[in-house]
This record gives sequence, C-alpha cells and structure tokens, in this order.
Amino acid sequence: MPACCSWSEVFQYETNKVTRIQSTNYGTIKWVLHVIVFSYVCFALVSDKLYQRKEPVISSVHTKVKGIAEVKEEVVADGMKRLVRTVLDTADYTFPLQGNSFFVMTNFLKTEGQEQRLCPEYPTRRTLCSSDRGCKKGWMDPQSKGIQTGRCVVYRGNQKTCEVAAWCPIEAVEEAPRPARLSSAENFTVLIKNNVDFPGHNYTTRNILPGLNITCTFHKTQNPQCPIFRLGDIFRETGDNFSDVAIQGGIMGIEIYWDCNLDSWSHHCRPKYSFRRLDDKTTNESLYPGYNFRYAKYYKENNVEKRTLIKVFGIRFDILVFGTGGKFDIIQLVVYVGSTLSYFGLTLKYVSFVDESHIRMIDKQLLGKSLQHVKGQEVPRPPLDFTDLTKLPLSLHDPPPIPGQPEEMQPLREEVTPKSRDRPSWCKCGSCLPSQLPERRRCLEELCCRRKPGACITTSQLFGKLVLSRHALQCLLLYQEPLLALEAEDTNSRLRHCAYRCYTTWRFGSQDMADFAILPSCCRWRIRREFPKSKGQYSGFRSPY
Ligand code: GDP
Ligand code: ZN
Ligand code: ZN
Repeated sequence: MPACCSWSEVFQYETNKVTRIQSTNYGTIKWVLHVIVFSYVCFALVSDKLYQRKEPVISSVHTKVKGIAEVKEEVVADGMKRLVRTVLDTADYTFPLQGNSFFVMTNFLKTEGQEQRLCPEYPTRRTLCSSDRGCKKGWMDPQSKGIQTGRCVVYRGNQKTCEVAAWCPIEAVEEAPRPARLSSAENFTVLIKNNVDFPGHNYTTRNILPGLNITCTFHKTQNPQCPIFRLGDIFRETGDNFSDVAIQGGIMGIEIYWDCNLDSWSHHCRPKYSFRRLDDKTTNESLYPGYNFRYAKYYKENNVEKRTLIKVFGIRFDILVFGTGGKFDIIQLVVYVGSTLSYFGLTLKYVSFVDESHIRMIDKQLLGKSLQHVKGQEVPRPPLDFTDLTKLPLSLHDPPPIPGQPEEMQPLREEVTPKSRDRPSWCKCGSCLPSQLPERRRCLEELCCRRKPGACITTSQLFGKLVLSRHALQCLLLYQEPLLALEAEDTNSRLRHCAYRCYTTWRFGSQDMADFAILPSCCRWRIRREFPKSKGQYSGFRSPY
C-alpha cells in the first residue's frame, strides 16, 4: 500500500525495545567476551601488521663467479699419449645466460678437429648396417648428426655404419666422465648483487651495504648477510653432494627473500638467503638426467673451417627474488578497525562530498542528527587503480536509443517517490528528497552530495555513464551471472542495487569502504527514478555485517 495515502501509517511510531537484565553473571560474561575479542583484535593488528599496506618487491640481480680449476687431459700428439694440464678461469667455465641465472661448467666431453666432409656415423644400435640397403640416401634422422649418403662403410674393424655428410669425425656417444673433470668447482665463489625497489613506498635498497666486509663467505648462522657464496656450501645446505651433481649437471635455486618493514619506528629491510634444488635429484631414474648443452669453438686450419665441439655439463643457478614491503597506511587501519567495530555494535559509515577531496569517516551513533551535519574524521581517498579504467569503455559505448522507442520505458511511479516540492533544509545541491525511512533511521539518508551550495553530482556526465547506464549495468550483472534472465520481475531491483554499488565504488574506490559508504539522497533518488520499485517501500542502507 502506498505510504502517503494510508492514515493508519501516519499515526504510527516505531522504536526498539531494550531489555536490561541486572545480573553479575551475564555482566561478567559480557565483559570477559568483550575483553577477549578486543585483545584478539589488537593482537592480530600488531602481530600481522594489519595496519600496513603491503607491496611486492621489484629487483635486479647481477652475479660474478670467481675461482680457478685445473683439468688433466689426455692428448694424442705424434702417435704418443701425453697428459696435459690446463688451468681454467672464469672466462672458460661460466657462460652468459638470460634472466637472473648463471652457469658454471663442472664436466665436459670434447670432440676435436671436426670439419665438413663425409664419414661413418658413430656405431650405435640405430646406425649399424651390413650393406648399402640398410642406409637411405638423403635421409635426415633428427637423432643423427648428418645427412645419409646411402652407403654403408666401415667405421672400425668389422663395425659398419651408414655414411653421412656432417661435421666429422662424429661426436662419440659417451657417458659423462666420472669423477667430474671440474669437481674443484666446488670451491668457486659467487658474488650476488641484488638491488630492490618498492616503488609504491618510494624505497630502494640493496643487499650489499657500504662497509660490508667483502672477504667473507656466506654461512647460514655465522655470516647470514654475506653476499659471497661458495658453490659447495650451497649444495651442502640442500643436502646434496657437489661432486655427484657435478657429473651430470643440475639446476639450483638461490632464493632471496625480502620481508621489509618500512615503518620508521621499527625499520627492518634485510634479505634472507635460502637454497632449493630445482631439477630432479634422482638422476639414475629420470630419462634425461642433469643439465647439459653443446657449444663449439670455430677456427681455420690450412684454410679449412674446423671446430672443437664441447658437450658441457654443469650447474645452472637461478636467482629468485621475492618478498613484500609494508608501511603504515591510514586506509588499511581504518578499514581494519571498521570491520571489527561492528562486533561492538558500532558501524562505521563513510561519506564523500563532491566539493571535498577527502572521504569522511563517521564512527559515532547518529542519535537523530542528520548525516549531513556530522563532522567525522577525514581519511584520504584511496589512489585510483588505473587498470580499473579499462572497465570504463564498457559504459561509454552506450547503444544509441532506438528511434521511435522512448528511452525511459518505466513511467514514474509517484506513489513511491517523495514529492519534489518539499526540498529538505540540509540539501545544498537542490536535488535531494526527504527520506522515507522510519523516524529512527531517517538520519542515515539525510545526506547531500555537497557540503556547500552548488551543482549536483547527478548532473555530471560521468554519473549518467557510470551509474545510470542500463547497458553498462546489464553487462555487469551478466558478467557475474552470464545466464541471468534480464526480463525477469526483479530485474529493476538488481539493476538498482548494482547502480548503488557502481556509485560507491566510483566515489570510494576501496571495496571495503564502499560497503559502508552512504549514498547522498540525490543519487539514491536519481537511481531509484531510473530503476523504480513497483510495490512497497525502499528498504535503504543495511549494514553488511
Ligand atoms: P530495496 O530494493 O527495496 O531493498 O531497497 P533499496 O533500493 O534501498 O536497496 C537496498 C539495498 O541497497 C540493500 O542491500 C542496501 O544495503 C543497499 N543500499 C541502499 N542504500 C545504500 C547506501 O547508501 N550505501 C550502500 N553501500 N548500500 C546501500
Ligand atoms: Zn542535495
Ligand atoms: Zn546532489
């Protein structure tokens, strides 16, 4: 039944009935519960630093490997076998890699003096043949090293294999040497330089601070801040044996974790290093164990292009930098306090005026005073996340109205909308309407979009596009429920509630604040005019808790 026409409803008065029980037991229980909840809320606030805004770290890494290794090689010269000692330094055993990685060679297989000609394949079960019929001219096996000529030739003794055009002699299929030829790489050291940045907090730092003793070696307990790591120690930390891994190679992760507290009163921002084996440990079980690749050194001999092919086994170190930086933030604190206050029977409310840059937080009971006149506490407006702007075009491409069809299909329902002539005294924009709520909740809706007289926010172009556009609201509803029937009875209610949300998220940014944000009367009634309720009264703001 329409409100204004029913006499019985005019002479009604509504109020809450409170029962007070005088009881020491109930009183004690109430206070004990309050104290427990309050202490827990405070404990969680401090221990989890819920008053901080956290931000992930951005970083750059630079590494330097140092160390010398000696390898003994058998060289055949003039028909004589000789043992040659070679000293390898950084340029020989480290290879530049992309990203935050570096590579240290620990083992290798060499095939020297290769040139482009015809020669037999290395004998394996796949390449052995007995006559030319076992080979196929022009055949390129991806497993093989060259193109077959179609002939079956002698490799060694009575072993015959298919002939190929390739880099000859063909690399032998061999197991990695045991023990690893550079097992002394265990004693190499790596210096890691890591610069980190928290752009949102405008804070930069690095792992090597001035005055740090650069002759140190990292040790988990005795020297946990030293940025120089002995490779053998890294493997000891993860329970692996360096000389075992060195044979086939492997991948090791060096993790640098930054858990930064950037508040001036308890500033702490130092890295924590840890290690993690990143390939499969069970080398004998996996199909392609270890980590290896081939590279070649090219040279010219008697004007013939030649190369030395090296199959390199080694350890790739991946440096993973992660962590967060937290700093005190009033919005986080306000949101946290607001979400816990409801337990104590208080609900926060947020209001925003077009002519003020900040948001106001109201934490007192209104006690009959209109919302417009409560001062509240000023809190900054959350910074706009510009990725949200990508959602804007959705509402900006409103389809043009179909000619001959009036844009507003719903006729105004006068019985639900209050009369516009009784403009409330607290309105500064000229578009607000009196509240319809019962007396005791009425103050909640007595709020204008402005603090000082001026134009109403509902007259802004963006209000029409962001809040009132039926097309955009329908898209939003369908986004959540793709198969929603938009012709249904309650569609207007859904559109209206969605429009309320669009307004609060637009004006209050943070979702936690939007839940407690109060719409100005002009916006509330403009939305209701667009998406009216056919029967009964609007129920108005209800606290989400
Ligand atoms: P109803 O459709 O008849 O229930 O009445 P309304 O059109 O007033 O919509 C009620 C719904 O909108 C409830 O879920 C309210 O919590 C929400 N709502 C109404 N006013 C406000 C407001 O000022 N701020 C917020 N955040 N939500 C509101
Ligand atoms: Zn107003
Ligand atoms: Zn207004």
